[in-house]
Amino acid sequence: MKILIVEDEPKTGEYLRQGLSEAGFVIELVQNGNDGLHRALQNEYDLVILDVMLPGLNGWEVLQSIRKHGLEMPVLFLTARDQVDDRVKGLEMGADDYLVKPFSFAELLARVRTILRRGRGGIDAKTLSVADLELDLLRRRATRGGRRIDLTAKEFGLLELLMRRHGEVLPRSLIASQVWDMNFDSDTNVVEVAMRRLRSKMDDEFDQKLIHTVRGMGYVLEEKNT
Ligand code: CA
Repeated sequence: MKILIVEDEPKTGEYLRQGLSEAGFVIELVQNGNDGLHRALQNEYDLVILDVMLPGLNGWEVLQSIRKHGLEMPVLFLTARDQVDDRVKGLEMGADDYLVKPFSFAELLARVRTILRRGRGGIDAKTLSVADLELDLLRRRATRGGRRIDLTAKEFGLLELLMRRHGEVLPRSLIASQVWDMNFDSDTNVVEVAMRRLRSKMDDEFDQKLIHTVRGMGYVLEEKNT
């Protein structure tokens, strides 16, 4: 899952980037409102974390412009403690949540996961399931046929993407950009290696395979009735 952070304070930005990367997210960080808006309009993000006080366009203006362009991506606002009115204003303008600075990383991560679980349909899904495969988004656990599968953060991210878009053939380049933040076809070998590992963990011991290679196109997770 891909997150755009717009934060002008270098320390806070780095702190967020590092923590969220370790939690398995793909992070893009920019330092001002104009760059933030530009990125948001050019790319697909699962979430935008938006500071209010920014050089160039401020957080509100960025949010307003994102919504004006018809983009529904969730936005989490970061506001200073002495700007209580900001929260109300932010929520009225279409932010999904806000967090008052200073905040603990644990709190931020909890908010981020809640927003992402809600997804675009606004439904707060706690688990994803396809056939006998289940992904517990709250506890970050995967099980198949009730049996626990141990996954790394990247494998979890990869499986989550496949499950959220199950039945859809996902090109390697899309997977690379959503899970690894890589945009070049030459890097897709990383995707193949990770996919092989993921498949051996979740498909090897089962008769019914869920992840399929579509030659020349990419991968799809689906329950095939053959
Ligand atoms: Ca700021």
